[in-house]
Amino acid sequence: MDLTFSPAEEQFRADCRAWLEANVPRPALPSGDTREGFAAHIEWERTLFDARYAVVSWPERYGGRDASLWEWLVFEEEYYRAGAPQRVTQNGIFLLAPTIFEFGTPEQQDRILPKMASGEQTWCQGWSEPNAGSDLAGIRSTARRDDARGGFRLDGQKTWTTRGAFCTHLFGLFRSDPDAERHRGLTYFLVDLSAPGVTVRPVERLDGDEGFAEVFFDDVFVPDADVLGEPEHGWAVAMATTGSERGLTLRSPGRFMATAQRLIDLFHEKGDDPALRDRLIDAYVDAEAYRWQTFATVTRVVEGDPPGAESSLVKLFWSELDVRMHELALELLSDHAELVDGEFAQWMKGYQFALAGPIYAGTNEIQRNVVAERVLGLPRR
Ligand SMILES: Cc1cc2nc3c(=O)[nH]c(=O)nc-3n(C[C@H](O)[C@H](O)[C@H](O)COP(=O)(O)OP(=O)(O)OC[C@H]3O[C@@H](n4cnc5c(N)ncnc54)[C@H](O)[C@@H]3O)c2cc1C
Repeated sequence: MDLTFSPAEEQFRADCRAWLEANVPRPALPSGDTREGFAAHIEWERTLFDARYAVVSWPERYGGRDASLWEWLVFEEEYYRAGAPQRVTQNGIFLLAPTIFEFGTPEQQDRILPKMASGEQTWCQGWSEPNAGSDLAGIRSTARRDDARGGFRLDGQKTWTTRGAFCTHLFGLFRSDPDAERHRGLTYFLVDLSAPGVTVRPVERLDGDEGFAEVFFDDVFVPDADVLGEPEHGWAVAMATTGSERGLTLRSPGRFMATAQRLIDLFHEKGDDPALRDRLIDAYVDAEAYRWQTFATVTRVVEGDPPGAESSLVKLFWSELDVRMHELALELLSDHAELVDGEFAQWMKGYQFALAGPIYAGTNEIQRNVVAERVLGLPRR
């Protein structure tokens, strides 16, 4: 086993580090889940794109660098290390794009991917409905065939759509065969949110941010060209997106390594309470363990063995680690923890978001069921 990066990868790391040090906006941008912050983040995404750092692992013709998965991991480590802004394009670039590479037609790839990479088009995920969250197969929003125009007509409601209030496009699952049940008869659509019949209603969060939305569809026409994968086979396409969301691409280890390092800095700054030192060491070791585990996964992926249900195991690990790290930060901060402005405010904001980690991307109870049945092979009952 050779755990060293090659000279070319080390050079790539040095280049990324130098560029990020010179270009990451200071002071930090306002939250990307506010309208003002979202606009500032899109400007940053454009800067990344112009320097060909927006989608390093994509082909050059779409604005990438044809970088390997290893180089992508290196970029991610450097990105988080530099304290660069959260990627408001992430649901497009990290969730939808891998699915478009796998299931999209060449026409869809050429039309959609460059605008996604540059931030000109931004994508949100339209899966959850008021009565279909964990039970995603309970989707009731419908798609009716419109042969005259060559497409489908969408009706229904999606909810908890992250940054839906600001995004230009939505990818979502709709029931196209009303007689089919559960996982069958679903189709995966790519929807322009400016189409007639779409209503986007922002939902204010407890922390005051307003990016969440409910999205209503009232006889919305979507052409055949915007069906991803085969009609009626949307579930399999959606599961590919889910694998990206729980596993490798959405939460790379660089994010947690950077948080662990910031925790160490905080520990030194706030005095070194021995009672908290062991938890700090555990947090660092866990982040490092996630990094090595990811290297093992990438080794298998590069050899053609996709992670599958193991991504549920990964999701459990990173979401619970994120909560533990932020809880520790608040304890270190003690009576400064609840300050909403100033240098420490990011920890409380981060803690509030970390609490959502065990819920989004499929709740952790559901992930435990998946691990029990599909990784450990335990009986369903
Ligand atoms: C920050 C955040 C961002 C989100 N962004 C998006 C987005 O962009 N797009 C989108 O479509 N959705 C999004 N969601 C919604 C998310 O996918 C759902 O909240 C999640 O799937 C759970 O569904 P639910 O809220 O309907 O809860 P429910 O499914 O009603 O679950 C309620 C509770 O019951 C438990 N439970 C349910 N079924 C079982 C079972 N079989 N076994 C054991 N326990 C069970 C759950 O674990 C949970 O604790 C987001 C959620 C959050 C918190």
